[in-house]
Amino acid sequence: MAEFIRFDRITKFYGALCVVENLDLSIAKGEFVSLLGPSGSGKTTLLMMLAGFEQPTSGAILVDGQAVNDVPTHRRDMGVVFQSYALFPHMTVGENIAFPLQMRGLGKAEIAERVTRALDMVQLSTMRERRPSQLSGGQQQRVALARALVFEPRVVLMDEPLGALDKQLREQMQLDIRDLHRRLGLTIVFVTHDQSEALTMSDRVAVFNKGRIEQIGTPRQVYDEPATRFVAEFIGETN
Ligand code: ADP
Repeated sequence: MAEFIRFDRITKFYGALCVVENLDLSIAKGEFVSLLGPSGSGKTTLLMMLAGFEQPTSGAILVDGQAVNDVPTHRRDMGVVFQSYALFPHMTVGENIAFPLQMRGLGKAEIAERVTRALDMVQLSTMRERRPSQLSGGQQQRVALARALVFEPRVVLMDEPLGALDKQLREQMQLDIRDLHRRLGLTIVFVTHDQSEALTMSDRVAVFNKGRIEQIGTPRQVYDEPATRFVAEFIGETN
């Protein structure tokens, strides 16, 4: 598969603390890659650098051959979803999704069309006029997903997006996200500390430990042939 996203010898320091160390990672177009590891192992920092919200101390990040830092934020063609999805409570679902489009000065007709398409993608068309408080947790998270998809990005970055949901909703959303990934041909980089979530959802899993990737492979490879003792122990833990 052709390389689409490339981290080339990325190092990141916060003060004297090295949180990502000389890391290489290559992701293909349309791939679903999870960054899996314990809290503090550098997963979010790597995602933030890919989004352009943080700068690496050294190394380069390329998307489709272009350095992310050379592309202005609004041209980056990435959607981002966090655990704390923070919908505006006083706005309807439709208005919440329209908000980033208004910020970018799109016309009314185009906004309405894009909101319709985004709601379709997450199967929430009937909820357009509701307020967030009138939705379930899973539906609220789908609104956040629609907001990330409203520019129809090729790449979607997710940081523990399901962390706040109960088990049943979480499993439903895992299926929904997998389905979206397939239907839309998205490239997804998904941060989680949940082993089973990473193993069930991903094409490949990168196991993080202290700012480095201990192993990267298919869920089968990581599960059946852990490359290090750390991977074996981390994958073997149950939540
Ligand atoms: P993970 O996502 O794996 O939990 P993070 O990337 O969030 O890990 O954090 C890695 C390390 O970097 C942690 O020790 C964290 O405390 C530290 N860190 C993260 N962001 C900052 C920041 N803005 N300033 C200083 N230290 C930070």
